[in-house]
Amino acid sequence: MARRKKIYEGKAKTLYEGPEPGTIVQYFKDDATAFNAEKHDVIEGKGVLNNILSEFFMLGLAQIGVPTHFLKRLNMREQLVRSCEIIPLEVIVRNYAAGSISKRLGIDEGTQLPRPVVEYCYKDDALGDPLVTEEHIAAFGWASQQDMDDILSLALRVNDFLSGVFLAVGIRLVDFKIEIGRIYEGDFQRLVIADEISPDSCRLWDIKTGQKLDKDVFRRDLGSLTDAYSEVARRLGVMPNNPPAPGKPTLVN
Ligand code: UDP
Repeated sequence: MARRKKIYEGKAKTLYEGPEPGTIVQYFKDDATAFNAEKHDVIEGKGVLNNILSEFFMLGLAQIGVPTHFLKRLNMREQLVRSCEIIPLEVIVRNYAAGSISKRLGIDEGTQLPRPVVEYCYKDDALGDPLVTEEHIAAFGWASQQDMDDILSLALRVNDFLSGVFLAVGIRLVDFKIEIGRIYEGDFQRLVIADEISPDSCRLWDIKTGQKLDKDVFRRDLGSLTDAYSEVARRLGVMPNNPPAPGKPTLVN
């Protein structure tokens, strides 16, 4: 059996060379890290849930015309994606104050923001992903002005889509992080949503109870992370091997 070529090993995913040029296999690990990897644990089943949830969101985005790197899910832990050049920014969209913005600006967690607020952090673990302004992004050439216009519009479309999907299942999308990839096609380049969209990179609160259903459960030791992510998957109807409710017919496709 031939060994696959590993391209990159991150904190939550490993990337392998894909079967065709321009493709990559994303393997979702069970590892959870927080506080710049100071806290680390292996949480059984997390990778499977994030693989399936990310597929669900990426397919939904494609359906409303938001381009993504996603091609297809290969198995429980892997998905095939288009290879792209990752713009070195974490694009954060916030609807309610939580986490770093609450600390930085002294806004109580849970306060609704007057409008969605988009922030950019420079992707550099050694520096702790510092917040940067568009001035830094332009001056250091991380993205052009046209890229920034496109990134803002993509981020707000993803926010509208995800907010609606979660609202429909009783979950408040407090904030999330996305990464953007550049794909070159001849003389042109296109920006796409890359990496993953999962409860690892969102803050999700139950609308009625305020219960946290995201990685803060791990960061703040609030209980079982697998239970929280399973609840999100169950509500969205994508729970792997969903046991059928007793007495109910099961759709087979
Ligand atoms: N986030 C992420 N990866 C990071 C930093 C943040 O996915 O490296 C997500 C985080 O889960 C939250 C949002 O981005 O949904 C905003 O995070 P924040 O800036 O509040 O940082 P935190 O409090 O998580 O350190």
